[in-house]
Amino acid sequence: MARTVIVGASVGGVRTAQALRAEGYRGEIVLVGEEEVAPYDKPPLSKALLAGTATAKSIGMLPERAAIDAGIRCQRGRAATAVSLRERRVQLADGTAIEFDDLVVATGARARTSPWGNPPGVHVLRTLADAEELGAALRQGGPLVVIGAGFIGAEVASTAVGLGVREVTMVDPVEVPLSRVLSPGVASQVAALHERHGVTTRFGVGVTDVVPRSGGLEVRLADGSTLQAATVVVGIGAVPNDDWLDGSGITTDDGVVCDQFSRSVDDPHVWAVGDVARWWHVRQQRSVRVEHWTNAVQQAECVAHNIVHPADLRSHAPVEYVWSDQYDWKLHVVGCTDGDQQHVLVGGGAPERSFAVLYAAADGSFTGAVIVNWPKALVTCRRSLALGRVPLAQVRADVEALQPKSHGVRGAAR
Ligand SMILES: Cc1cc2nc3c(=O)[nH]c(=O)nc-3n(C[C@H](O)[C@H](O)[C@H](O)COP(=O)(O)OP(=O)(O)OC[C@H]3O[C@@H](n4cnc5c(N)ncnc54)[C@H](O)[C@@H]3O)c2cc1C
Repeated sequence: MARTVIVGASVGGVRTAQALRAEGYRGEIVLVGEEEVAPYDKPPLSKALLAGTATAKSIGMLPERAAIDAGIRCQRGRAATAVSLRERRVQLADGTAIEFDDLVVATGARARTSPWGNPPGVHVLRTLADAEELGAALRQGGPLVVIGAGFIGAEVASTAVGLGVREVTMVDPVEVPLSRVLSPGVASQVAALHERHGVTTRFGVGVTDVVPRSGGLEVRLADGSTLQAATVVVGIGAVPNDDWLDGSGITTDDGVVCDQFSRSVDDPHVWAVGDVARWWHVRQQRSVRVEHWTNAVQQAECVAHNIVHPADLRSHAPVEYVWSDQYDWKLHVVGCTDGDQQHVLVGGGAPERSFAVLYAAADGSFTGAVIVNWPKALVTCRRSLALGRVPLAQVRADVEALQPKSHGVRGAAR
C-alpha cells in the first residue's frame, strides 16, 4: 500500500491529511509532529487562548477519534531529524525511521529568538506552551513591553489591555509599523487604535538591550531611554523550520524550494505546505513564502489533490488573505495592498470603525483591500479578486452600494 508521510502536525499537516482522504486517497497516512500535545490551531494563541476565553481543548484540530476514523496515524512527540531521498525514508529523533512514497513537509516556522537574551520574563509566542506561560505572566499584571508591532505583537498588546494589564508599551524600530502590508495611512490608524486603548507606542526607535533589574526587566532603547517591564514579549518574526532537511538533497532557501505545484524542485514526490513552503507563484511570477493560516489550508488542499491526481496537477496561486483581531477591530487584508499603490477609502456603517481601503495597480485594476469590521465588503472584494483584473472604479461602486444610505466616499486614505 502507498504511504504518505506528513511531517508537522499543525494546520498545514492536519489539513493535508484530511484533504488526502477527501480526495479519495486510499494509502496509509502518517502524521508526525514533534509536540506532545494533540494538534491545535495557532491564531487563537494571541487572541482567545491568551485572553482565557478559549482552552487548549477548544482550539484542538484533530481529536484522537477523528484521526482514527479518517485513518490518520499520528506520531506525536517525535521530531523528524533527516530525510533520505535514496532510501525514501524519514528519520525520527527517537531513532526510528518511516518509509514514504510521498513526503509532505509541513514543519511551519518558529519564533525568531530574542537577540537580547532570554532572562526570566522574556517571552516569544508561537506554541501553546508559549501562550500558556505568557498568559500566566500577564495575569500577574504589568508593565508589559511588546517588542515588534506586527500582527502578533499588536494582538498581544490588545489582549493584554483586555486582561487589564496596566502600562503596555509597543516598541518598533519602524516609524509606521505594518506599513509594508498596509498603506501608511491605514497603518497609522492601527497605531492610533492602540493609543486610544491606552497603549504607549514607541515607534521609530530600536531596542538595544533587555536586562534583568531588581526583580523585573529593563528594556533599553537606541535613543538612550529605558522602559521598566515585568514581562517582555519579543514579536520580531518567524523563521521556517527547514534546517532538519540540511544534507537531504531537498533544496531550502528560507523555506523548502518548490515549483508552482508546491512540489520540491528536487523530487516529484516531496511536497511542502504552509509557513515552511517557498513556491513559485505563477500569477505573481516570483517565489513566495507566506505565513498565513488560509494559505496553509489552501496549499494543503492543493497538495492533496496533486498527490492523488498526478496527471492533473494544480498550481497553488492563492489570493493573499489574512485577518487580525485587535480590540473591537476585525481587520482583513485581501490581495495586494503594498503601501505605495493608489487607494481609496470607503466608509461603512460607522466610518471610524468600519471601512474599506481599496487598492489599485497603475493600470487602475483592483489589486486588494484592507477591510475593518465590514464583512459584506470583504465578500465583495474577495469575489472581485477571484474574477481578476476588475477596474477599481467598479469595485468601489460595488462596495459603496453596500453602504448605509448616510455615508459616502471619504476621499483618499492618506
Ligand atoms: C500567535 C499566532 C497568531 C496567529 N494569528 C493569525 C491570524 O490571525 N491570521 C492568520 O492568517 N494567521 C495567523 N497566524 C499564522 C498561522 O497560524 C500560521 O500561518 C499557520 O499556523 C501555519 O501553519 P503550518 O502548519 O504551516 O505551520 P505551524 O503552525 O508552524 O506548524 C508546524 C508544526 O510542525 C511541527 N514541527 C516543526 N519541526 C518539526 C520536525 N522536525 N518534526 C516534526 N514536527 C515538526 C511544529 O511543532 C508545529 O506543530 C498566527 C500565528 C501565531 C503564532
